[in-house]
Amino acid sequence: MGAGLEDLFGNQPPGEPDESQGELRRALVVAAHPDDADFGAAGTSHLLAQAGWEVRYLVVTDGSKGTDDPTFEPARLIATRREEQREAARVLGVADVRFLDFVDGELRYTGGSDREVLGAITREIRDFRPYAVYTHDPEPVIIQNAFVNHSDHRATGLATVDAVYPTARDRLNFPEHLAEGFEPHKVRELYLWGVNEPNFSVDITDIIETKIEALLAHASQFPAEGFAEEARTFWRDEDGRSREQFRRIVMWG
Ligand SMILES: [Zn+2]
Repeated sequence: MGAGLEDLFGNQPPGEPDESQGELRRALVVAAHPDDADFGAAGTSHLLAQAGWEVRYLVVTDGSKGTDDPTFEPARLIATRREEQREAARVLGVADVRFLDFVDGELRYTGGSDREVLGAITREIRDFRPYAVYTHDPEPVIIQNAFVNHSDHRATGLATVDAVYPTARDRLNFPEHLAEGFEPHKVRELYLWGVNEPNFSVDITDIIETKIEALLAHASQFPAEGFAEEARTFWRDEDGRSREQFRRIVMWG
């Protein structure tokens, strides 16, 4: 058992599960590509793990488009990026990484009758039963006037939000999961990264080097030279502190 959330998160800690109600100290981080979870929430994941939470990463696509190196064919790139993501998880104390293996760059989720990715994420939520889910904000196409929010990020975020509510919660959605032994599950809190209007920030100043080490595990994605210093600068606010920013939604009811 680790330190309490208030010791690690300061005066704005995330919510705690009510263990008397059977809620578990678990967080699921759903990311489109290997490395996205570490850009968005590595510091927060590490703090939760230090507090004794079980943190799991779920990577939705296979990462098969993420290179400019002509010598990388897709199968080797997929295997390399999986191992990089597992290494980053080890650095952070993230207990497990799962891969759904949808094709990178081609993720499609439009809601309604579009069931494949929604069903896959719903099944993972019902299996793991997290108190909190972290994922991409599906809404912005442009983030902070600085980034295009990749279409796989938007699709992952939207499918994950829809899986949290209503499909993981409501019994008659994907009833085939019941036959597999997965009961419906209520996620209590949702945290979105890549946002234009954050309402929750996590001070990761004391562990920024651990986040950078996790990012550096994705060696196929960045030139090693200069990356660590760029990352330090990127995550440092005007007051000298480093923060991960989220939209936090405490689920109603
Ligand atoms: Zn990505």
